[in-house]
Amino acid sequence: MTTASTPATYRALRVIQDGQTGERQGSRAELQTLPLSELPEGEVLIAVSHSSLNYKDGLAVTGKGILRQLPMTPGIDLAGTVLEDASGTYAPGTPVILTGWGIGERQDGGYATHARARTDWLVRQPAGTDAAWAMSVGTAGFTAMLAVMALEDAGVRPEHGDVLVTGAAGGVGSTAIALLSAAGFTVTASTGRTEEEAYLRELGASSLIPRAELPALKRPLEKERWAGVVDTVGGETLAGAYASTRTHGALAVCGIAGGNGLNTTVFPLILRGVSLLGIDSVTCPQPRREAAWARLARDLPASRLVAVTQTRGLSEVMELAPQILAGQVRGRTVIDVN
Ligand code: NDP
Repeated sequence: MTTASTPATYRALRVIQDGQTGERQGSRAELQTLPLSELPEGEVLIAVSHSSLNYKDGLAVTGKGILRQLPMTPGIDLAGTVLEDASGTYAPGTPVILTGWGIGERQDGGYATHARARTDWLVRQPAGTDAAWAMSVGTAGFTAMLAVMALEDAGVRPEHGDVLVTGAAGGVGSTAIALLSAAGFTVTASTGRTEEEAYLRELGASSLIPRAELPALKRPLEKERWAGVVDTVGGETLAGAYASTRTHGALAVCGIAGGNGLNTTVFPLILRGVSLLGIDSVTCPQPRREAAWARLARDLPASRLVAVTQTRGLSEVMELAPQILAGQVRGRTVIDVN
């Protein structure tokens, strides 16, 4: 059944096949108005108000091969209100958040005024927060929260020593710093953008190291420095951080901004009891999701996100996408889709 507020059409940023343009590997992005019947299957119809820009969205919009089919609406995050729910779980008007589960990769995502999704993918907006806040957090902040929770579950405590955050000025890195600092940890930020020192210190970093420092640590066991690590970079950066993690420390491994390889040894695992913890925000089970969003609402109020967040329009996403891939976007970008 459709309600009075259900429109006949919606507006979306679509990535479509484009055989003539080699530079985007055969695809390009454009704004389109489509009938609502074009939305994918799912019990819940959502009026989207905000999405966000993540590294993966940069890949999707620039045609870097993460979209499983074309045409597709990218946007791995969305927040809005329920218009209809065939399952009866959500009353019309309920504010909801959706991150991951393959939206914006395997099925149409958040760069649109409307979306359809499965009921069990959604999280209710925590009390006292709004859609702009949720998208300022987005997959990046949610992933940062999962990383901090994973370190805590592995026994990492503030009194054990410094926690390192790599890719510090990016979306995951920036929110990880804020969350770690809120939890009482002393944070060292590894960044290629030393000009962002004031920003990173304002977020809660106590010290900065240059991006090149970790890849230079090549021995299997380096001097013990980090009680915990939130790594968004991978590759040689992760290898260096792992080799310099303290006995019984842990690394929450989130990303590949610097490479997807991991050339290292087992020695930190077997001689220092170091733990490598994998973080996957896409398939994170629902109870963990709800716990993470509740804690984000508590520890990362909108006032703490102001300095980290810029808000841009749907039509600006094409211009922003290559920038986030080039590591030029600071913190979080909320996309107002309307
Ligand atoms: P951003 O682009 O916002 O941040 C990435 C940061 O990494 C940059 O700001 C930069 O930090 C650093 N960086 C970029 N390129 C390089 C390089 N060549 N070498 C070393 N450092 C580099 O992206 P996000 O924060 O949104 O995502 C970070 C990573 O986490 C991505 O790989 C993303 O795919 C992954 N991710 C994984 C998730 C999961 O569920 N596991 C969920 C969300 C993201 P600085 O300028 O400070 O050096």
